[in-house]
Amino acid sequence: MERILAKALIDAPTLNKRVQQMARQISEDYAGREILAVGVLKGAVMFYSDLVRLLQVPVVLDFIQAKSYSGRTSSGEVRLLSEPDYLDRLEGRHVLIVEDIVDSGATIQYLRKRLLDKNPASVATCTLLDKPDARRIKVPVDYVGFTIPDVFVVGYGMDHSEHYRNLPYIAALDADEGE
Ligand code: 5GP
Repeated sequence: MERILAKALIDAPTLNKRVQQMARQISEDYAGREILAVGVLKGAVMFYSDLVRLLQVPVVLDFIQAKSYSGRTSSGEVRLLSEPDYLDRLEGRHVLIVEDIVDSGATIQYLRKRLLDKNPASVATCTLLDKPDARRIKVPVDYVGFTIPDVFVVGYGMDHSEHYRNLPYIAALDADEGE
């Protein structure tokens, strides 16, 4: 089923440049503080690893695994497949949720609530991609890499049925592709 998608929506140099800018901004905003960076598996894996390597402040790495998509449709229902190691040690910590895409907003709403319940000092959200046209729930998003139209994208960590995550760029999957 997997095809090579030749046409990039966002190419690797553009991704690289934007992640550098985001890391610079986050480092400035968190100067003098330590970040607990909670990466949302699996889609954010490439963005997360590129971003944390560029941060100029102390960072502790953690992960959460959430699922709301099946194929190319959102179920609207968020399931947690794994919790952060630091879940019961969040008090006083500055949590930065690192996501691949904010789409309907359901995942971020769910994760923020889950983490805020544990009394961290702060919770902010950083996403590589934002699809405002698909938003159904209003959620605060503090850092956005790129705003994109409501199309289904793959690559740079993002999948269609677990394929295409290893593409070094982001491509839009046409309606007849990847089925
Ligand atoms: P939300 O809960 O905001 O509707 O969706 C967030 C999650 O849905 C993202 O973290 C991502 O896993 C998945 N998702 C949303 N749009 C896309 C897309 O265009 N491509 C892929 N591969 N996943 C998406």
